[in-house]
Amino acid sequence: MSDTHRFEIPTSLSDASIYQFFDKNFDTWYKCFVKHWSTHHLTHPCRAKDAEINGCMLAFVIDGMQKVARPICKNKNKCITTEEFPDFLYIGCGNTPKSKTGLCETCQQQRILSDNETCLTTNDDNGIYDDPTTGCNVSREDRFVDVDKKISQGIIYTISPCGVIIGFDELYRSESCFMTLWHLFKIIRLIDVYNYKYLPSIIIYDNACSLFIYFWNRYKNNEINRRIVKTPSSEFVSKCSFFIDRFHQPNHRRPMCQKDRNIDFKTNSETTKKINTEAAEQRNSVLKQYQNALSSYSGQKVRVAYLILFHLMNCERNTCDNQFEYNRRYATKVPSSKSLIIFLKEYPTVRNKI
Ligand SMILES: [Zn+2]
Ligand SMILES: [Zn+2]
Ligand SMILES: [Zn+2]
Ligand SMILES: [Zn+2]
Repeated sequence: MSDTHRFEIPTSLSDASIYQFFDKNFDTWYKCFVKHWSTHHLTHPCRAKDAEINGCMLAFVIDGMQKVARPICKNKNKCITTEEFPDFLYIGCGNTPKSKTGLCETCQQQRILSDNETCLTTNDDNGIYDDPTTGCNVSREDRFVDVDKKISQGIIYTISPCGVIIGFDELYRSESCFMTLWHLFKIIRLIDVYNYKYLPSIIIYDNACSLFIYFWNRYKNNEINRRIVKTPSSEFVSKCSFFIDRFHQPNHRRPMCQKDRNIDFKTNSETTKKINTEAAEQRNSVLKQYQNALSSYSGQKVRVAYLILFHLMNCERNTCDNQFEYNRRYATKVPSSKSLIIFLKEYPTVRNKI
């Protein structure tokens, strides 16, 4: 399916096989999404109004949205490994819980790791979120409704300052540095290396100080459980500047937060100082309209819903000249959460001219 520019989600598939269809193709679709939108400034840049800087791919702005949280399996120590994190990443389980146990079918048959069986307690996360002396107030906790019910943390996503979304991941546990880096490395890995030179070298995040400390404590470190391996993605990140978004800047008191992590610091370039760091807040208000639908979907359905929704939001947002008019008109025809539900139910044609 990777070489087609346009395809139809088959309406004839039964409920079970539509999920198979989604699962089989999701990675390919997500890759197309990331590749397309991360280079949109080269192929169809957002038009600037009256010489105003729209910030098309001037930075990676990373933010979370908790309002779209949904019930998930309570196995928060389900883990994966990646090239950058060859030890363990405890990302949790996003499956819909099946029974009173609060676990999904798969996790019910497995031994669940307790917190002290993970290496999370021995790593150097402690203290970097809430520094008692400097007081950068950015701590986050996993959310449980009660001991047996867990809800997700919504999503984390990366956006260009022009408002175009580049990539997203659901968060099954609290938005910690390793989750944020995992999300970012995954995006960079999907972009062709020959396009790296066109990508921004600025990362904007509300907890940029902790992210910076975490990354540099671990990058190219050889110690097991404390290492981030050098790969094209992590090397790319190592060359980026990390800044706090302007809205959260006043909460940050570390010396580096006033200077190196401060996007408005006097030695930064004029272009950097003009970057819109609140693009995500503006997208969050759009996303909020879909909150009820998104927080009621199953794990299998919701990621496809995000993919379609973000693609349509991007099409509507991207104001390039005389291109993709069809997409733009189509996107503006999906204005409410009700239409999104109908839209997803009917599995219509997804036009993804890539
Ligand atoms: Zn743009
Ligand atoms: Zn924010
Ligand atoms: Zn599970
Ligand atoms: Zn700080």
